[in-house]
Amino acid sequence: MWLPGHVALALLLCLPLLWLYRSKKGSYLLPLAFVAFFSVLPDFLHFDTGLRTVSHSLMGATVLAVVLLVVMWKVFGTGWVLQVIAVVAVYVHLLGDLYIGHIYPYYPFSTEYIQNHQFNTVFDLRFEIIISTIATLVIITIYALDRKGFRLDGVASTDLRSMLTIVLPFAALCLAQVGYFGILDILQDYTWSAAILGLFFLALLSLSLLWAMKIYRAIQKDHGYSSNESRHYLF
Ligand SMILES: [Zn+2]
Repeated sequence: MWLPGHVALALLLCLPLLWLYRSKKGSYLLPLAFVAFFSVLPDFLHFDTGLRTVSHSLMGATVLAVVLLVVMWKVFGTGWVLQVIAVVAVYVHLLGDLYIGHIYPYYPFSTEYIQNHQFNTVFDLRFEIIISTIATLVIITIYALDRKGFRLDGVASTDLRSMLTIVLPFAALCLAQVGYFGILDILQDYTWSAAILGLFFLALLSLSLLWAMKIYRAIQKDHGYSSNESRHYLF
């Protein structure tokens, strides 16, 4: 599955946890960053077949997530709701690639892979367009009903740093996949489905870059480097 499908699937399945975090801490932004980053975590090791085998196995994905979460807990004091979101998002990635693509669930005990549908077919693109559309409508509705939950103003300084640490690599992976998708599906084998999924790709790329920029400015403001007194909303 491509990046938009993974993010959409994890977002939809993590909604109760997002609401839980919002009710405890007053913001959707940090849990959203966790959903985005951890929903694509195994694909950071996608550039090599061997590494992909490791990161797309139950054991590899678990070790990867646990190591990162321990580091984030030590550095930023990441709480349990965010940790659960991260673990759910990582396993949802494996579920997504199990449905469309392939995973090696039993590695290192076996290199047998499991596949239900082939990656990057018209079915794949249409499936990802449908779940991305649903996820977009859900997030727009939440934003319309509860705009305060998307404010960067009230977010603690440590949480801002934690957010930037994962939003930046997410944006970088998004950029890399946009390039790969563009060559493969737009330049070589253009279809309307590819064009529509390409729009979701571009939306996620622009949003993550804008998000990173806003977080950076909010961190600067926290340090008193900025004289801008206006409120920092994500949009
Ligand atoms: Zn994957």
